[in-house]
Amino acid sequence: MRMILLGPPGAGKGTQAKMLTEKYQIPQISTGDILRQAVKDCTSIGQEAKSYMDRGVLVPDQVVIRVIQDRLGKPDCTRGYILDGFPRTVAQAEALGDTLARMGSTLDHVLSIKVEAEELVRRLSGRRTCRSCGEAYHLLYSAPRKDGVCDKCGAALYQRDDDKEETIKRRLQVYQSETAPLISYYQDRGLLREIAGQGEIGEIFERICRVLEK
Ligand code: AMP
Repeated sequence: MRMILLGPPGAGKGTQAKMLTEKYQIPQISTGDILRQAVKDCTSIGQEAKSYMDRGVLVPDQVVIRVIQDRLGKPDCTRGYILDGFPRTVAQAEALGDTLARMGSTLDHVLSIKVEAEELVRRLSGRRTCRSCGEAYHLLYSAPRKDGVCDKCGAALYQRDDDKEETIKRRLQVYQSETAPLISYYQDRGLLREIAGQGEIGEIFERICRVLEK
């Protein structure tokens, strides 16, 4: 099963993708995670991406397209994958279409997760991540047992630079102008399904599974 999870930052794409990887045994491919790792490892892609990411704007298309082409060629993608945070522009969607055509492959589903703007800001500003194992927490919805400390591995939690208030606003604006047009792009191709992204995590997951299994 090859699918895209589309939605603004904070819509829960990462959380739902992780649950879907377990259920369907296919990898989650998050360009945000790949780029953050590249920044941490100081690779040339990481160095190129960092200033864009810190400002909450998109990394240039040709950089992420290269990243995704490389990733889709890996053996664990043969049974399918969940694209989380890619594509984010029409140019990226077109490059993805070309890459898949060359591979003799197509997309099965594009799910658009919808959440109101106020809720997105609440979710993003409360988000905390473990520096060591990457486990995700939320100060309101899934707080760690001990303040600032990861339940799983005991390392310190941190707030992503791009989850600070000013940058959050910029990321939401970028989503509206650059990424939201993909909703009609995939609608026109008959692939888009909408998912209400508000409510309990498990409830949203069930909504997604129902759509996938229809
Ligand atoms: P995310 O974790 O998906 O919110 O991504 C964090 C940041 O990585 C974004 O704000 C962008 O700067 C960059 N990024 C991730 N995916 C893409 C993409 N498909 N196109 C351009 N920039 C991206």
